[in-house]
Amino acid sequence: MRIGSLTVTSIIDGEISIPTEGVWAGHSNEEWGEFSPLLCHLTGNPVQTVGSFLIEGIADRLVLVDAGLGNNPTFPFSGGALRSSLLALGVHPDDITDVVFTHLHLDHIGWASLGGKPFFRNATYRCDSRDWNHFMAAEYELPEWEPFLSKPEFDAPQVRLAPIADRMEFWEGDGEVFAGLEALDAAGHTPGTTVLQVGDSRESGLIIGDLVHGYTELLSDDWALGAHIDSPAAIEAIEKFRGVLFDTGVPFAASHFPGMRWGRFVTDAVDHHRYEQLPV
Ligand SMILES: [Zn+2]
Repeated sequence: MRIGSLTVTSIIDGEISIPTEGVWAGHSNEEWGEFSPLLCHLTGNPVQTVGSFLIEGIADRLVLVDAGLGNNPTFPFSGGALRSSLLALGVHPDDITDVVFTHLHLDHIGWASLGGKPFFRNATYRCDSRDWNHFMAAEYELPEWEPFLSKPEFDAPQVRLAPIADRMEFWEGDGEVFAGLEALDAAGHTPGTTVLQVGDSRESGLIIGDLVHGYTELLSDDWALGAHIDSPAAIEAIEKFRGVLFDTGVPFAASHFPGMRWGRFVTDAVDHHRYEQLPV
């Protein structure tokens, strides 16, 4: 995806396969309408992709937004392909100058470190300080579901992130991360969940991370995700960005839309909003 002078590439690490009702209570696999071809053709479950966005063109930086699940994920997470996906593009982990986390859930920090060492050896790692303070607090306890869907001895935030603690730099809320990348406060899914605005003076796009997990959440509050740390705040954040996405038609990409494809909303004369994918 070209955004102004920048190139943003979706880097696939793996997938999550959970039936619709396991993600959005009260809904089913039958409700995806024109987007049903994007469901898994065998299980009928939504395909929720996991990975990173590679940003090229910001000065001499090579930026990775989020870091996937890691090399050995647990069902219903699958994958571990991030390293190979980068190498397929000719990018070595040592080439990455900045790793920017939208938040610190396990499916966004998996390749932060490997075997107790920073995986991106030349990178500065960055996130909202509220997420770091939450997930790295001594009293932090994993949510109930996490030990069943992960290997905490590898995947827990305090294991994954301890090796990069001395490479961290932080922002809090709204503000410039560095020229070309702006943090927009979207707290709720986690305490420091961030939407990232990427672009130059000509054009910008939004990497909305886990603000929502499917386009339906943007169209209706009825599609509420069960897994927010602070649901009222998360719904408020969604409402804030709905305004931007609907009114401006800005291109955006979410962490878990199928294939991590970019899309936008088109609004018709009667104020009906329709999601459409953009060409790769
Ligand atoms: Zn996620």
